[in-house]
Amino acid sequence: MAETADVVVIGGGVIGTSIAWALTTAGVKRVVLLEKGALASGASGRSSALVRMHYTNEEDARLAWASYPLFRDWPERMGGPPVFTRTGFLAVVGPGDAAALRRNVDMLRGIGIDTVALTPAELKVLQPFVNVDDIGAAAYEPASGYASPAEVVEGFRRQAQAGGARIRQWTAVTRVRRRASAVTGVETPAGRIDAGAVVVAAGAWAPRLCRELDVDLPARPKAIDTMLVTRPPELAGPHMVVIDHVLGSYFRPESDVLTIVGVPCQVWDVDPDTMPTGVPPTAPAEGAQILTHRIPAMERAELARGYRAFDCYSADRHAILGAVSGLDGLYLAAAFSGAGFKIAPAVGTCLAELITEGRARTVDISAFRPERFAEGKLIEGAHPYAPRRDHVEPVR
Ligand SMILES: Cc1cc2nc3c(=O)[nH]c(=O)nc-3n(C[C@H](O)[C@H](O)[C@H](O)COP(=O)(O)OP(=O)(O)OC[C@H]3O[C@@H](n4cnc5c(N)ncnc54)[C@H](O)[C@@H]3O)c2cc1C
Repeated sequence: MAETADVVVIGGGVIGTSIAWALTTAGVKRVVLLEKGALASGASGRSSALVRMHYTNEEDARLAWASYPLFRDWPERMGGPPVFTRTGFLAVVGPGDAAALRRNVDMLRGIGIDTVALTPAELKVLQPFVNVDDIGAAAYEPASGYASPAEVVEGFRRQAQAGGARIRQWTAVTRVRRRASAVTGVETPAGRIDAGAVVVAAGAWAPRLCRELDVDLPARPKAIDTMLVTRPPELAGPHMVVIDHVLGSYFRPESDVLTIVGVPCQVWDVDPDTMPTGVPPTAPAEGAQILTHRIPAMERAELARGYRAFDCYSADRHAILGAVSGLDGLYLAAAFSGAGFKIAPAVGTCLAELITEGRARTVDISAFRPERFAEGKLIEGAHPYAPRRDHVEPVR
């Protein structure tokens, strides 16, 4: 006889485990999470895990803001060790985007987020070692920082399991079962699981699963390159987390000695099962160039290591969240476009509300609905910045 569940979650990254946790918190009794490898073996385990609220669109900012308290108060709310390191956060833009940044800061303050716009001179007071020559303005968030991705996934797992969820690692979903216009469960090598609701939280594997279901998911897996350097002694104290819209990159401290820097990468349509995890030979020099441009003292940093990971990018670079119309019981939580970590707590809660109550209450996620692409209603803030070069999509 087949096993039964109320909800099956496909994928054990930060999104799938957060959804499983939120479902059990909402009182759903029979939750099964299936992960084809180990938990956090996809994008989540490699995430730089910046926790910040600065966005040019209100919808993502609201998800980030609703998620933030869980990271900050993790030991009290989730048990286990702290997962969050507060460093302060800066988003820097060139002179051409300075007015847009000030408008975005106003929008974010309207939500309740603690952020201010700084002039280059004010930024220099805060982080004296930063080169501000090509900066027009900066948004500062004193409460932001970064999290430990593996600890977060582990915490969601622990709490989901304590709430009764069955978490199965090394168990791949080989097929989502459907009858007419409704999903009926999933198949795995260990047998069938019948369920009235199935959530695809399969990261870079989501397009493949959706294709097999004939569900259109306008999203493509893309590689992401990261380098780590050991900071020179004069930068021994951790710097703030920085998203640099001038250079199209970000960097953040990792522990007291290392700095992580994102190296723009335009390798699309990767196969997450076979993609090599090494960075190209040009990545160390590019990472060094970004860091030394923004923090000249980084010239004396030493290369530690680099790695290539991936995430799934949607056509408008925002997540795809919600029920699939025309296929009852199928929900998508996919295509986080290199930015899903910080919003995972609220995404989990919102998906659980959507499944159990028919509507997300914590944050209105209707803008993220899967049909927005067909409707031509893409998500874009009123004051976007110059597009990042690694976000420009190559023609297939
Ligand atoms: C280098 C890097 C830096 C990043 N930095 C940030 C950042 O600073 N801030 C931020 O907010 N976000 C960041 N992100 C993005 C963020 O990490 C991702 O958006 C997020 O982790 C996606 O989580 P996920 O659970 O959707 O996907 P994943 O973590 O990829 O999980 C999906 C899981 O599904 C499983 N799976 C797939 N198919 C099946 C199947 N058929 N059956 C069972 N299981 C299956 C996979 O094995 C995988 O474990 C970064 C990502 C990377 C790679």
